[in-house]
Amino acid sequence: MESTTGPAAIADPEGVGAATTPEIYLDYQSAKPVDPRVVEAMLPYFTERFGNPAALHTVGDRATEALEESRSAVAAFIGAQPEEIVFTSGATESNNLALIGYANRNKRTGDHVIISEVEHISLQNIGKYLEKEGFRVTKVPPDQFGRISPQKLRTRITDDTILVSVGWASSEIGTVQPIAEIAEMLRGTGVALHVDAVAAEGLLPIDMATVPVDLLTISSNDIYGPPGLGVLYIRKGTRLAAVTMGGGQERGLRSGTENMPAIVGMAAAARIAGEELSADAARLAAMRDRLISAVLSTIPDSHLNGHPVERVPNNAHFRFEGIEGESLLLSMRDEGVWVSTGSACSSKTLAPSHTLISCGLLHEEAHGSLEFTFGRFSQEDDVDRVMEVLPGVVSRLRRMSPLYQKV
Ligand code: PMP
Repeated sequence: MESTTGPAAIADPEGVGAATTPEIYLDYQSAKPVDPRVVEAMLPYFTERFGNPAALHTVGDRATEALEESRSAVAAFIGAQPEEIVFTSGATESNNLALIGYANRNKRTGDHVIISEVEHISLQNIGKYLEKEGFRVTKVPPDQFGRISPQKLRTRITDDTILVSVGWASSEIGTVQPIAEIAEMLRGTGVALHVDAVAAEGLLPIDMATVPVDLLTISSNDIYGPPGLGVLYIRKGTRLAAVTMGGGQERGLRSGTENMPAIVGMAAAARIAGEELSADAARLAAMRDRLISAVLSTIPDSHLNGHPVERVPNNAHFRFEGIEGESLLLSMRDEGVWVSTGSACSSKTLAPSHTLISCGLLHEEAHGSLEFTFGRFSQEDDVDRVMEVLPGVVSRLRRMSPLYQKV
């Protein structure tokens, strides 16, 4: 296989899957390869450094030491204190603990929760669950670029509001939210703020010491750590009820024996992400900008979804008039370019993206979208390869499309 140095090379180091076209992975939002430096840090924890932190002997003590060192490393990555970090099985679980745990613990104060309309499907579904449990849930719509206005949010707050949940950035269209402004607006109101930072971590600076967020979700794989591990940051003084019952690990908030190899891996990933964030972000933004200007200037009737400026450095999300994203994705796949039509977590439904519909797109417009996400192992010439194939694929599909009349 003539491959890039990216995940294809990691997955197939011997080049066994020989093919003539280069294969390019531009779907980093759905999964990231674990950084080889992280794998190295994890390996001893499967074998000679195994151990349960709850065990009352030296092997257990060593595990406790590794657990607390890891907690400190992850805390430092987001400007938090170690005791504000709870390890979970991933972002979905962190989101569940944040919203259900906070709502249940604070229901005597109020029964109203506000969630932005452009949140990940996990939060949308947690909202539905809370409604069934008797809470009132209000959805706040974004503007056409997917941004949530702090002023609009403020008008939805009532005396019964206890919690607001807005993501730091959209993992789909890449729009970055004005989290610092939203947090300032809520400061002193008694309304807690939960932020799902999965799409922003490792790409934008996240500092709990300066931004007054109460609950923050991050995941390990999104910073090139192992999948199946996440964190909920809980600001000191924020009270939650546990959602998982068991042996009382993680201060009783997340029972279950700690996944030590993954925890050590996430800590290593957080250290690397902290050191390399600025350089990574600048390199990714340059590739993203080159792709955006090449697509918009070369392919007629193409549009950028999401915000033109306030977007994460690795995301380029386009809409092509008259064709379907699914057909585009499959044609690109035939050319060895792996991309996405939106959130991988919703890819099994035929419904158009709720995020794009919330931004005001018609169903057929939302269906004509394609998402490119760059990552740590992307190369400059990945952009050239996309531009070698994408214009031809778009015109071929348009020639066959009854929806496109301009050819
Ligand atoms: N939040 C966001 C913004 C996501 O993109 C995802 C999916 N990567 C999740 C939450 C859920 O993550 P997981 O499936 O790893 O629990």
